Amino acid sequence: MSKTLLNKNNNNKFSELTAAEAKSMNAYCEDYKAFLDKAKTEREFAHEAGKYLEDNGFKPLESKDKLKPGDRVYTINRGKGVLAAVIGARPITEGVTIVGAHIDSPRLDLKPNPLYEDGHFAFFKTHYYGGIKKYQWTTVPLALHGVATLEDGTQIKISVGEKDGDPTFMVTDLLIHFAKDQMQKKLIEAIPGESLNIILGNAEYDGKDDEGEEIKEKVKYNILKLLSDKYDICEEDFISAEIEAVPAYKAKDLGLDRSMVAAYGHDDRVCSYGALRAVADLNRPTHTAVCLLVDKEEIGSVGNTGMRSRYFENTLAKIIDKREDGYSDLKLRETMSNSVCISADVCAAFDPGWPEAAEKHNIPVINGGLGVMKYSGSGGKSGASDAGAELMAKLRKIFNEGGIKWQAGELGKVDGGGGGTIAGFVANLDIEVVDVGVPLLSMHSPYESAGKLDIYMAYKGYKAFFDRKD
Ligand SMILES: [Zn+2]
Repeated sequence: MSKTLLNKNNNNKFSELTAAEAKSMNAYCEDYKAFLDKAKTEREFAHEAGKYLEDNGFKPLESKDKLKPGDRVYTINRGKGVLAAVIGARPITEGVTIVGAHIDSPRLDLKPNPLYEDGHFAFFKTHYYGGIKKYQWTTVPLALHGVATLEDGTQIKISVGEKDGDPTFMVTDLLIHFAKDQMQKKLIEAIPGESLNIILGNAEYDGKDDEGEEIKEKVKYNILKLLSDKYDICEEDFISAEIEAVPAYKAKDLGLDRSMVAAYGHDDRVCSYGALRAVADLNRPTHTAVCLLVDKEEIGSVGNTGMRSRYFENTLAKIIDKREDGYSDLKLRETMSNSVCISADVCAAFDPGWPEAAEKHNIPVINGGLGVMKYSGSGGKSGASDAGAELMAKLRKIFNEGGIKWQAGELGKVDGGGGGTIAGFVANLDIEVVDVGVPLLSMHSPYESAGKLDIYMAYKGYKAFFDRKD
C-alpha cells in the first residue's frame, strides 16, 4: 500500500464526501434519529433491535438446532441486552468478530418508594443513574418510560411525555432571585441528589379512598387514582417497576448546515445502532460476526445484563454447540482467545468552548471521522484497556482499505480526568479489543451532539470490521 509521509487521517473534512456518500449519510442519519426517538431506554432499544433483526431475517437462537454459514440468530438478555450473530464460513474456534456497545444512558430512575406529597405537590423521588452533572437535569422536559411487573407476571409498559398532547414532567430549580447562597456553592453541591424530585401534579382528589376512609394526602392520592385508571397499577407495584425519567427531546439536526445531530442518548446508541445496522447488512462473513449490545455500562458494567456478566460466554457456548457439533469448554476458550472485538463507545470531541480540557494533537474532532482510541483510563492510563500495536495495525488496514474516515486520539488531557468502556471486561476474556466510536460534545448531558459524518462512519467502520478476511 502506498503511504504518504503525513498522517492524513487526522484531517478528514465533511466536504470530502462524494455526493453519493453524502446522500447515504443523510439517509442513514434520518433512520438513526427515528430509531433514537423510539428507543430511549435499554429496554426500548432491546425491543426495537429485536424487531429490526426479525425484519432482517434473524431468528431466535433457541429456534435453531444446528447452525450453518450464513445463518442469522439473536437472543435478548432479560429484555435489556441483545446478541445478534451471523454465522461465518470459517470454524467458529478460529474466532468471532465482535462489535460490542452499550444501550443504557444516564437518566433519573424512580426510587422503590417514589411517590410522595409535599407542599401541596405530588412528586416522584429519583435516584440518578450514571455520571451526570445534576444541574443539567433541572427545568428540562422529562418523559417517563419503563415497565411495572405485577405479581402474576403481567408486564405493563409505561411511556408518557413523548407524544404530542402528552403532559411533561420536570425537576424544578430555585429561582435566581432567591439563589444568592446556591450560586456561591460548588456545582457538585448546588443541586443535591435528593432534590432531583419530579413534579407530578397539584390537584387534589375529591372524595374518600377506596376503603371509604378520609384521605390525608389528596394530591398524592389523585396521582395514584390517575395511574390506576390508565395503567391499572397501585402504589405497591412501584416495588417491581423500572421507570426511568429521560429528556423528552426528539433527535434533531443541529446547526443551520444540518451537519450534526442533537439527541438524548447518543452515548452509546450512536454506536449500538451502527453495530446493529452493520450486522444486519452482512451476508456471509468469513468469521462469525457478533453484535453484542449490553446494559449497565454507565454504572460499571455490573449485573447480569452488564458486560461483566457470563451472558456473553453462555450465549457463545450455545452458538458453538449448534455450529460445531457439540460443545466443549476448550472450544469456548479457543474461540474467545482467537476473537477480536471493537468496543464501540463514544469518545470526547474537541469543544472550542473548553479548549483547556483538550490536548489538541490527540483529541478527536466532530465530523473528523470515527474515533479510534488505543486506550482509555485516567491519569497514568489507570484502568485502561490498551489495545496492542498488532491489533491497531490490523484495524488501520481494514479502515484504510474500506474507505472509512477515521481519526486517532485519546480522552482529554493526561491529568484532566478520564473514563472507561466495556473494553477492559472484554479483554479479561482473553479477547483482542480496541475502542472505536463516535466523538461527542456535551457527553452525558440531556442533549448530546454528534457529527453526521462520524455517525455514518460508525456503521461503515463496524461493517468493514465484521467483513474482515483474516
Ligand atoms: Zn458510553
